Amino acid sequence: MKGFRAILVTGDSDRERVRSIAVGAEAGGIELVRGDPLCSLCGGDLRLVRKDEVSAEVPPAVGRRHRLFFKCGSCGQLYWHGSHWKKLMSVARRLDDR
Ligand SMILES: [Zn+2]
Repeated sequence: MKGFRAILVTGDSDRERVRSIAVGAEAGGIELVRGDPLCSLCGGDLRLVRKDEVSAEVPPAVGRRHRLFFKCGSCGQLYWHGSHWKKLMSVARRLDDR
């Protein structure tokens, strides 16, 4: 594809990968804009779903610990704010503080 600007994401950890995006965007003059969350599997839009809508799909321990669930409108992947999300938010906050 011609005419598309891209950032090569590198690194072995989430922190390194997020940092490579920030560095690549700055070097390429690409503005990063936080938008609505997208599915990490297919890029589809995520929508907030009620817990009772997805209770059969969620492991019981997760259902007890979380109230908010998001479902991809394209592939049906289910998400919640688990430990991976908390780690990514922590990395994002540190990048905001730069
Ligand atoms: Zn999806």
